[in-house]
Amino acid sequence: MKKVYDIVVIGGGIIGSSIAYNLVKEGFDGKILLIEKDPSYQFASSTLSAGGVREQFSLPENIKISQYSLNIFENFDEIMEVDGDKAHAEFKQHGYLFLANEKNWPKIRKNHEIQKSLGAHVSLLSINDLKKLIPHLKTDDLVGGSFGSRDGYLDPYGVMQGFIKRGKKLGVEYLYEEVTGIEVKRKKIKGVITNKDEQISCRIVVNAAGPYASIVGKMAGIDLPVEPVRKMAYVFDPKIKFDYDLPLVIDTDGLLYFRHESGKTILTGKSIPDEPPGFNFEWDRNFFMQVVWPQVARRIPALDTAKLMRGWAGLYAMNRIDGNAIIGHFGDVEGFYGAVGFSGHGLQQSPAIGKCLSELIQFGKYQTIDLSCFSFDRFKTGKLVFEEEMV
Ligand SMILES: Cc1cc2nc3c(=O)[nH]c(=O)nc-3n(C[C@H](O)[C@H](O)[C@H](O)COP(=O)(O)OP(=O)(O)OC[C@H]3O[C@@H](n4cnc5c(N)ncnc54)[C@H](O)[C@@H]3O)c2cc1C
Repeated sequence: MKKVYDIVVIGGGIIGSSIAYNLVKEGFDGKILLIEKDPSYQFASSTLSAGGVREQFSLPENIKISQYSLNIFENFDEIMEVDGDKAHAEFKQHGYLFLANEKNWPKIRKNHEIQKSLGAHVSLLSINDLKKLIPHLKTDDLVGGSFGSRDGYLDPYGVMQGFIKRGKKLGVEYLYEEVTGIEVKRKKIKGVITNKDEQISCRIVVNAAGPYASIVGKMAGIDLPVEPVRKMAYVFDPKIKFDYDLPLVIDTDGLLYFRHESGKTILTGKSIPDEPPGFNFEWDRNFFMQVVWPQVARRIPALDTAKLMRGWAGLYAMNRIDGNAIIGHFGDVEGFYGAVGFSGHGLQQSPAIGKCLSELIQFGKYQTIDLSCFSFDRFKTGKLVFEEEMV
């Protein structure tokens, strides 16, 4: 017999789980089923993320998303408590620092003005300020930096589990199968089919399939410009341990980042600008030895003696047209929604995205933050949105 639900969310990573949680929390009184193909979350972007959170974006909507999300993260463990067990976001507000040289300084200053006008907790730092913040920093090619004092990093797995457990407690059902088809009749969502031949009837489907978003889009006849792109991360153990906490630092090229991890080890990674798309989860030790570590050690020479402890590769869901997320109703199929294409900032945006998309689905319009600039329609109207502070 066909199971019947009102909403089926496809993908139980941080975005799908936040959407499902927010729907029930906001009082949606129908039945919600979240379908996740991999209960171990071994390859989910959410669990492979670096955990960075920042207010420092160029688009006002992205800044507002961060501000809403920060309010949640600062109280996450209590908000997501289940039967006396708190969540474990491990949010460390050690700050987020963009380093500036002559080249990127004008852009950083311009974006700083936008951030300040929205009340973000950001300041521009001089070389002296940088030296005070990170005494070991090499600053000879720098002119300053932009620092977010409310920013930091958290444990992605802990946040995802927080949404899952609280969502389940409030009534979200999870099914661990793979969605293999979406039933659409006369341009209306009718249900989904899984790899175990389960036929589930519903009137709304939410695509939260992360790097698999375009595969799920095609099941409903919608072409989404989202591609999986590999990003590698590494943790190394430096010989010299600092007696202060590093903020999350973005070097002047905008590609290299590093921060402290537990036990004063260093978590780092660097984007490869021309990495071809694909479901590639192989991590490359040589890339660390030849490219990443030398650049970290140039910026902080005290980190030049270290042992690589581990590495991994995860996937960004990259929107190949304008790089921003695609959120809202998708195309001309009634009942087909989604939140996909978050590249490197889906984790930190998850609380606000869940809240806002649940409003759109329930009430037909955004209430907390107007996210209509991220609609799928923008690819038709040409009103593309570009974020200058992508990492
Ligand atoms: C190395 C790395 C570092 C990052 N650093 C940061 C950072 O510092 N800050 C930040 O904010 N973001 C960061 N990100 C990005 C962030 O992790 C993602 O934007 C975010 O996790 C996206 O969440 P999601 O739920 O959309 O995707 P996912 O976590 O990938 O979840 C999608 C889920 O959908 C499931 N699924 C797919 N297809 C189907 C199907 N047909 N049926 C059932 N289930 C399906 C998958 O199994 C998966 O679990 C980083 C990402 C990587 C890889």
